Amino acid sequence: MRKNIVAGNWKMNNTFQEAEELISVIADELDEKDLQCEVIVCPPSIYLEMASDYGEESILSIAAQNVSGYDNGAYTGEVSASMLEAMGISYSIVGHSERRKYFNETDAQLAEKVDRLLDYNMKPIFCIGELLEEREAGNHFNIVESQLEKGLFHLNKDEFLNVVVAYEPVWAIGTGVVATPEQAQEMHSFIRGLITKKYGVDIAEDTTILYGGSCNASNASTLFANKDVDGGLIGGASLNADDFIKIIESF
Ligand code: PEP
Repeated sequence: MRKNIVAGNWKMNNTFQEAEELISVIADELDEKDLQCEVIVCPPSIYLEMASDYGEESILSIAAQNVSGYDNGAYTGEVSASMLEAMGISYSIVGHSERRKYFNETDAQLAEKVDRLLDYNMKPIFCIGELLEEREAGNHFNIVESQLEKGLFHLNKDEFLNVVVAYEPVWAIGTGVVATPEQAQEMHSFIRGLITKKYGVDIAEDTTILYGGSCNASNASTLFANKDVDGGLIGGASLNADDFIKIIESF
């Protein structure tokens, strides 16, 4: 059955002490609640071990923000899926627009990262989404289709069952300009339609598709109320425990 998820992407923020305080407050607060979604926290990689300890003692799942497309070996500065898996990390974001833009990650490299995660029974949170100029030119559906085809659609059905898709229009990320609920639903329904064509209706209905881009405590409930929006990938608002918890409670 399709799972609702709220995932907090901390990006490159917080000192160790701030990170530990934030995750401990979130874990404590959620302990007393009847949750309608899985909650994932994605700290910087250097804090994953600490976060994983909190994950073991709470209902939180922990995700990396990135993973190497290579297996272990002479790849200075990289962190492998096997290392993450051994630390109890169950997910990794792949293909965030900041990785595509600032680190020139290509669709082919992202497909490798997805494969490495699946090799180690981890789950990719695979990000797709168009630039503002691509939407203005009416190309947003083509862009999203191409990102899905190149990054994910080489998977077989069993592999695809482990994937979470995150639709993140780049023009909405960190800008305060959120997609309207209609824009989000339209694209999520398009994405689910593509998954249906490729893998069949049962797999498409079971696939979690998150929205990301300036989602906050005030707009989360109208976004999540759409039938194809199964939660959110949250950037800025996940750095404040109260805001993040309000978003988690928006279902
Ligand atoms: C993100 O970076 O994935 C994101 C959605 O950021 P924000 O919520 O800050 O727009």
